[in-house]
Amino acid sequence: MTTSIQNADGAPAAATGRQQFASDNYAGACPQALHWLCEANASGHEPAYGDDRWTQRATDMLRQLFEIECDVYFVFNGTAANSLALASLCQSYHSVICSPVAHIETDECGGPEFFSNGSKLLVAENESPAAQLGKLTPEAITSLVTKRSDIHYPRPKVVSITQATEMGTVYSVDEVHAISRVAKEHQLRVHMDGARFANAVAHLGCSPADITWRAGVDVLCFGGTKNGLPVGEAVVFFDHKLSEDFAWRVKQAGQLASKMRFISAPWVGLLEHEVWLHNARHANAMAQKLYAGLRAIPGITTLHPPQANGVFAHLPPTAVLAMHAKGWKFYQFIAGGGCRFMCAWDTTEASVEALLADLRAVMGASIG
Ligand SMILES: *Cc1c(COP(=O)(O)O)cnc(C)c1O
Repeated sequence: MTTSIQNADGAPAAATGRQQFASDNYAGACPQALHWLCEANASGHEPAYGDDRWTQRATDMLRQLFEIECDVYFVFNGTAANSLALASLCQSYHSVICSPVAHIETDECGGPEFFSNGSKLLVAENESPAAQLGKLTPEAITSLVTKRSDIHYPRPKVVSITQATEMGTVYSVDEVHAISRVAKEHQLRVHMDGARFANAVAHLGCSPADITWRAGVDVLCFGGTKNGLPVGEAVVFFDHKLSEDFAWRVKQAGQLASKMRFISAPWVGLLEHEVWLHNARHANAMAQKLYAGLRAIPGITTLHPPQANGVFAHLPPTAVLAMHAKGWKFYQFIAGGGCRFMCAWDTTEASVEALLADLRAVMGASIG
């Protein structure tokens, strides 16, 4: 007997290889990443645990990209990257301020609390327009930090922001600066969940340094998986003091790959010739195309305009069911009831057109 795991939307997994819009991690690995994976395999035996030349090369490339001697660690996934990065910034009696829709709050199974031995996430609930877009604001941070200072409350120590956000929006350089400014005023560290960092940079057109350490970010979890790696994220520390014991933390958490070259070498493929940026620009462009198409379908209400690679829209429940029946996968549980459509590095225009055609059909608006 086989056990089957249902997707979060309850739909059984389909067997086809059709491009889907449920998540950008449905996509495979890009050719450049695979090329370097094979390169790293071709030479036979190599030093383990990150003492290999590809790990060194990927690290050097990230230092070049960020224009600073940052400390870089490669881990398997984003939950570990975030959890371990946050744990390195906190004692167990500290707290982390984040948005209510933050992945660390909603989708990491308590990982940050677990790996920090109990640091509490403090969710900044508020009704501001920025909050509707999945963003933290300086005001929300200030109000949480100044609410209590007594010994009975877990002391705020970190602000965590997601770039691009879970709502497909992007913090501007000024917005990150403003957040860091209030954070530093209150002796808080700044963590950036960059599972879709590439998509944010592609949207902003700024340098990676400008939106991270130059804007006050202490540690970045740079997502590789959704950008075209087979597996892997990079934890990038811009302050050496904070990463002092990080290698041990990674090992204890079971995140130290013995054949690390198979995580790091594909990063070389992403970083070389700005493939990471190219992949992200493409995904963002497909989201714009999808957004324009959705807006032209009567009965579908789009939410905010996308800035990264995710598009949100309200569909009538019958249309959702009809689309699922046609084999389309997308989530509805993310951030307040809208349907989320994610575009990936390899999403084709034809796939966007196919999705839109079926949506037009189920909405009874097909032009025939
Ligand atoms: C995908 C994602 C992650 C990482 O998730 P894993 O499944 O643990 O790799 C982290 N943060 C955000 C915002 C994400 O979308």
